[in-house]
Amino acid sequence: MPACVHCGKPAVVALDYANIDLCGLCFTCLFERRVWKANREFKLFKRGDRVVVGVSGGKDSSAMLFVLSKMAGQIGFEILPVLVDEGIEGYRNKAIPLAEQLCERLGLQLKIHSYKQAVGKSMDEIVQLRDAGKIRGKSCSFCGVLRRRALDNAAVELKATKIAVGHNADDVAQTFLMNLLRGEPQRNERFGVTSMHEQSTDFGGVVPRIRPLVFNTEKEAAEYCLVNDLPFYLGDCPYAVEAFRGEVKDFLNNVEEKYPGTKFNLLHSFLKEKGGQASPAKEKAVVLKCAKCNSPASGELCKACEIAELLKA
Ligand code: SF4
Ligand code: ZN
Repeated sequence: MPACVHCGKPAVVALDYANIDLCGLCFTCLFERRVWKANREFKLFKRGDRVVVGVSGGKDSSAMLFVLSKMAGQIGFEILPVLVDEGIEGYRNKAIPLAEQLCERLGLQLKIHSYKQAVGKSMDEIVQLRDAGKIRGKSCSFCGVLRRRALDNAAVELKATKIAVGHNADDVAQTFLMNLLRGEPQRNERFGVTSMHEQSTDFGGVVPRIRPLVFNTEKEAAEYCLVNDLPFYLGDCPYAVEAFRGEVKDFLNNVEEKYPGTKFNLLHSFLKEKGGQASPAKEKAVVLKCAKCNSPASGELCKACEIAELLKA
């Protein structure tokens, strides 16, 4: 068994891109230091913040919740865990008890917002409608919009000052690449580690969204959960196969396997290009408001209201 490069104890985690092995404790320190680094570089948290933490029962959000629960006392912010239940049988219903378990362990009260409550349909029902030809679109396009809106609504309800989402280095690198591959580089201008603009276009909402795990990879989030004995659900969403993101993810994982460090290179290219923030110039360009809910929109209705209307029809 290899030894930890820092302390010499038996290593449990191998970081191929850095060619080092770490023991559980040294890896935990590294993972948490990177969250502190994101906090410093992007000014994520301040004393008195009320932070909605989006949890799903998955590895990223479980790792994030655990790290933030340690940071909250030191910085002086409050954690408000919110789980968005899409209504996907065999997936989210299996993950929810694990999220509840972790919240209970941390003494936090979990709030659950469901699509069913919000728009009268679960994700499974939306997919059934789509498969019956009654509505058109990819499942993740509906789901992404509704999830954002659910978190925005929860944040307004709870008078939160921030929404922390469990997007890791892989997610940010994927989004960056996807926007390029779709021929929509302008989307990368609106996308940041901490971004107001993201909510102020299609999705409504006014609470800034932050990504504390931006400097950690997806694999490291899973390893952090394992090393720290955190409950998390490992299954995949049955609709993920429809997503373009899945293709980009597989591509990046393959390249990373052959050329360790590729994901971080992509992430740093993205961050260097924009300093991690959404472009202020673009933020000012948004003028339209949704006719139904008053959220900023790119057309007459915001995307969430468009979907809600579609589902009523
Ligand atoms: Fe929703 Fe798509 Fe994620 Fe499944 S994979 S939870 S449908 S966004
Ligand atoms: Zn609206």
